[in-house]
Amino acid sequence: MKVFVTGGAGFIGSHLVDKLISQGDIVTVYDNLSSGRKEFLEQHMRNKKFTFIEGDLLDIECVKKNIKNHDVVFHIAANPFVRLGEKQTRLDLEQGAIATYNVLESMRLNGVKKIVFSSSSVVYGETPPISIPETYGPTLPISFYGAGKLAGEGLISAFCGTFGFQAWVFRFANVVGSRGTHGVIVDFIDKLKRNPRELEILGDGKQRKPYLHVSDIVDGMIYGFEHSNEQVNLFNLGCDSNTTVTHIAEMVVEEMGLKDVKFKYTGGKRGWPGDVPRFQLDTTRMKKLGWKPRYTSDEAVRKAIREILDNPITKN
Ligand code: NAD
Repeated sequence: MKVFVTGGAGFIGSHLVDKLISQGDIVTVYDNLSSGRKEFLEQHMRNKKFTFIEGDLLDIECVKKNIKNHDVVFHIAANPFVRLGEKQTRLDLEQGAIATYNVLESMRLNGVKKIVFSSSSVVYGETPPISIPETYGPTLPISFYGAGKLAGEGLISAFCGTFGFQAWVFRFANVVGSRGTHGVIVDFIDKLKRNPRELEILGDGKQRKPYLHVSDIVDGMIYGFEHSNEQVNLFNLGCDSNTTVTHIAEMVVEEMGLKDVKFKYTGGKRGWPGDVPRFQLDTTRMKKLGWKPRYTSDEAVRKAIREILDNPITKN
């Protein structure tokens, strides 16, 4: 299979590329390196089955030229920083909605009709305290990042309905693991390296979310892609357990071998405006397909902390 991976130099994208290459697929990565790193793909640079293109998804001519002759597109690129929307209100419109449109339109003009999309649980917005199934609605995101993801899903569905595309949309829980360059674990480790006596925790620390290890996300995405065949295949990709932010802080402190660290909470129930403080994804659909994650939420967090501490910019 010839696979085009947008955002393939990023945290999740580079793990996906490792897995696709190990399966024998031919892979093209298209990435502008805004938050991704070429080092994450170093191991493939001499492989004849691998091509790296440094390009921006907002440059539609460049996308059109390079997307030709692929069987499927894994569209993973996006602005990964949920908090930025508060300061830059156009960012997710461009990096979420318009970038996704450019990918879809380039696919249409070149006869590529299969797309796999990394969406997010944030499309659900703030929900009642239930395990959220894919059928939950209305989907009313409370962040610009979430709005960008929902717009991306809408455009994908429109290209399916209008031009006969086929899509696999995965709404991810929080993802952690080696090569992680952002998120709560990286933030805590950085802060504790600077000041091992005190840790600032955004919100009240009671935010409770499911965390999935990056190996499970990649595995789940490929499994879902290979085992479902509707026109639009929509899946939550999460686990049935969850972890509080305070517990993540405790695990980071423990793994760094620190003692008597004072936790300083900034207060309020959410980490930042637009943060969904609690959610749980219903994973029945993936289970019915025959897939479940290897790690619980706590196990995934613990494993990710060790991986990131062992090698801050790892290739593992
Ligand atoms: P990441 O920043 O490591 O990866 C994003 C990649 O996209 C980077 O390599 C970046 O350079 C590239 N990119 C961004 N804008 C681009 C553009 N305009 N043109 C070309 N390349 C561009 O982030 P990640 O955590 O690996 O996230 C990957 C995907 O998964 C994103 O779509 C993100 O929204 C989604 N997601 C991530 C999480 C998580 O917890 N990490 C949760 C839910 C969804």
